[in-house]
Amino acid sequence: MPIDLRSDTITQPTQGMRDAIATAEVGDDVLGDDPTVNQLERYVAGLLGKEAAVFMPSGTMTNQIALRTHTEPGDEVILESLALIYYYVGGGPAALSGVRCRLVKGDRGVFTARDLEQVLRPTDVHFPRTKLVCLENTHNRGGGRIYPLSEIRAISKVCQQHGLKLHLDGARLWNACIAQNISEVDYVEAFDSVSVCFSKGLGAPVGSALAGSKAFIERARRFRKMLGGGMRQAGMMAAGAIYGLKHHRAHLREDHFNAQTLAQGLQSIAGIEIDPQTVETNIVLFQTKVLPAQVLAERLKLKGVYVLPVGPNTIRAVTNLMVNEQQINQVPDLVELALNNA
Ligand SMILES: *Cc1c(COP(=O)(O)O)cnc(C)c1O
Repeated sequence: MPIDLRSDTITQPTQGMRDAIATAEVGDDVLGDDPTVNQLERYVAGLLGKEAAVFMPSGTMTNQIALRTHTEPGDEVILESLALIYYYVGGGPAALSGVRCRLVKGDRGVFTARDLEQVLRPTDVHFPRTKLVCLENTHNRGGGRIYPLSEIRAISKVCQQHGLKLHLDGARLWNACIAQNISEVDYVEAFDSVSVCFSKGLGAPVGSALAGSKAFIERARRFRKMLGGGMRQAGMMAAGAIYGLKHHRAHLREDHFNAQTLAQGLQSIAGIEIDPQTVETNIVLFQTKVLPAQVLAERLKLKGVYVLPVGPNTIRAVTNLMVNEQQINQVPDLVELALNNA
């Protein structure tokens, strides 16, 4: 069995999850008839302390529909410069919502309330209307960095003063909550809308949800239908999501422990650069000083360790439900062998 650290999306459904999927009660969700989808949407809304939620096939869709629901074409959205919503979605904000993205450079994905204030401009016909600010917690390109709750609250205050909405890309919100011992409700209270994902650390095969006020979610449902995201017997997938929320959320603590173990193991290897303090959740980013990341990744693959080069000298390893502590303990030695081409 390879040690697959490319992403926390590579997980196979566990047997319990497969059983839950196989026995799910289903109906036509476009007609509102799927009891398992309805159960998931109520469950997620409750978990996040929002009035309503809507199930969608992917986090790409929940985020893009959030943008579309909050804005009109020509509006401006403020995002961190490496935000997934901007960086990894094929030009989605321009194509689907006609919005202009204004980027704020953060520190490993996190910008401050002061950074935000500096890019806000007075109302003037020359400028686009700024409507929305998006944060990401944890931050994917930022190496799984946690957004401090105090900073979120300060940013929310600035948004309120300027009449801006605040959206959270919370694909890995579950990781942030476990790492910080903060409840989901408290962590997302300041946000008008929240996207969460079931197919990453939680191990479900498919799905994300968007949560917010009742009126917001009603409008989002129109855009979901428009974009072809209305699904029929989607309870099969919702059942996997419910199972993941109930049974795999606590496991994220082990993923975080394994990521820290890995970071510390890599730290002592000549030719690798990493600061374990920057590893806050389940994503480990490290630099290869002597080999291109691509070459090291190829050599590691031959040794049964799968990682992802994400820059010329940067490699990403993500701990997940399919990788245990014993396997993680083997990785630093294999990296050292791969570096020496041994
Ligand atoms: C993976 C990811 C998404 C997109 O989710 P998909 O379900 O893969 O479309 C959105 N935001 C963040 C931060 C992610 O890591």
